[in-house]
Amino acid sequence: MGRSFQVVILGGGTAAGYAALEFVKNDYNHGDLCIISEESVAPYERPALSKGFLLPEGAARLPSFHTCVGTGNERQLTKWYKDHGIELILDTRVVAADVKGHTLRTSSQETIAFRTLIIATGARVLRLEEFGITGSVAPNICYLRSVQDANKLVEAMAACKSIGGSAVVIGGGYIGMECAAALIGNRIPVTMVFPESHIMARLFTPEIAAFYEQYYEKRGVTFKKGTVMSGFERNDQGKVEAVVLKDGSRLPADLVVVGVGIRPNVSLFEGQLTLEKGGIKVNGKMQTSNSSVYAVGDVVSFPLRMYGEMRKLEHVDHARKSAAHAVQAILCPEKIEDYNYMPYFYSRVFTLSWQFFGDNVGSCIHYGVQSSGKFGAYWINKGKLVGAFLEGGSKDEYAALARVARDRPEVPDVNLLEDQGLGFAMAHTMEPDSASSSFKGSIQAGNMLLEKPAMIVFQAATGIAVAAAIAGFVYWYGSRRRRLL
Ligand SMILES: Cc1cc2nc3c(=O)[nH]c(=O)nc-3n(C[C@H](O)[C@H](O)[C@H](O)COP(=O)(O)OP(=O)(O)OC[C@H]3O[C@@H](n4cnc5c(N)ncnc54)[C@H](O)[C@@H]3O)c2cc1C
Repeated sequence: MGRSFQVVILGGGTAAGYAALEFVKNDYNHGDLCIISEESVAPYERPALSKGFLLPEGAARLPSFHTCVGTGNERQLTKWYKDHGIELILDTRVVAADVKGHTLRTSSQETIAFRTLIIATGARVLRLEEFGITGSVAPNICYLRSVQDANKLVEAMAACKSIGGSAVVIGGGYIGMECAAALIGNRIPVTMVFPESHIMARLFTPEIAAFYEQYYEKRGVTFKKGTVMSGFERNDQGKVEAVVLKDGSRLPADLVVVGVGIRPNVSLFEGQLTLEKGGIKVNGKMQTSNSSVYAVGDVVSFPLRMYGEMRKLEHVDHARKSAAHAVQAILCPEKIEDYNYMPYFYSRVFTLSWQFFGDNVGSCIHYGVQSSGKFGAYWINKGKLVGAFLEGGSKDEYAALARVARDRPEVPDVNLLEDQGLGFAMAHTMEPDSASSSFKGSIQAGNMLLEKPAMIVFQAATGIAVAAAIAGFVYWYGSRRRRLL
């Protein structure tokens, strides 16, 4: 038998770093917490790998992006864990888990016991072999999930650049888009291949995608849409020279970057914990089907309270927040409410930057003028605004979008919403905050009986004044927006 801890975090990625921070904020006892990670470095902000890490100049390198700098907190270096009495076991893969026996077995054959386990194993990339394409291991074929992968990509980019070569990116999602932008930034011409009819098909409408595709094309990206690759051509050293498409055509390639999706790392727990939608099923406390075991981040299927359904979200904001929530549930089970998350994700490519809040279901209306670089979209489902997207927004504007997607206001007139555009969300922020007002409201409703009539008249007059101010603001913002966009 090896070491034993009150809490073990399995996985040393983004969520693990945020969970550790939450324990430290709550003065958790030195020596009670351990993190086991197969990576050789302390937890870091994974999104940096496809952005700052790939810049041609002044590229981000560890230790600059260890968690939790991404949210303005202290940068947690290895020393930080030591100073806070957290055992950080790196370069160590957990190869077996016994949930009922409360033990984990590591690749070095140590058995580590826990009282409480937090599973933060994240996800792994889908490999081309899983789509029936053999031989995707080559020095110039790159995937991107870990800092190790990112180092390989940087080396492969340098080699490609030195011979004036070109790259093929397989996949038109997040990773494909961000890597294609990085390759162009490194002056490597790119062809993107994907089966969908436009990029980021899971989120973008054809109208939104058209903007990014034109932007990419102007900078040297070629698109091969509606098709898939079927194999590679290699040279004598095993390096890929061309990507072969399903129709038999070939794309010369000195570098191939593959971003075709991910799968949650659940295999250690199959048959021991309940799974749903491919992830480990948790309740609103991030607790699995075994009450001593919690799970957070990319690996979980969790109840998305605002939509009343189970979801799997593979985005960093959820990783950070679910990690903090699980720790609170472990430390203060009697105080913690159920996880009430609103989906949020973002991306940055070239000098562009977009954010999305809520759900992209139902019908969609677009606003703004794309050529101005600032435009957006709202999704309306069952008469309510449920999702909001904006390219090129300011901090305040993104905050307004977050608020409107969370509040899901009724949309009585879709044409008016289209005309008001961003002004609708901005005006909505001037209304009382419904998240806290629903709570305050219930108190106020009770107090109303005790209030004097004069007070009620005063409140009614104030309400009319606020409504008039909002209407005025919508008009002002709308006309200003028309000037700006
Ligand atoms: C290149 C890239 C760019 C991204 N950009 C964005 C973005 O712009 N916006 C956004 O919202 N999201 C982005 N994401 C997604 C975001 O990074 C993830 O949602 C987040 O990292 C999930 O955190 P996690 O801790 O659940 O998983 P991870 O960060 O993947 O951490 C899982 C950890 O568990 C370890 N592990 C797994 N199995 C074992 C085992 N058996 N034994 C030991 N250790 C194990 C892994 O090695 C890893 O260290 C990006 C992801 C990538 C890869």
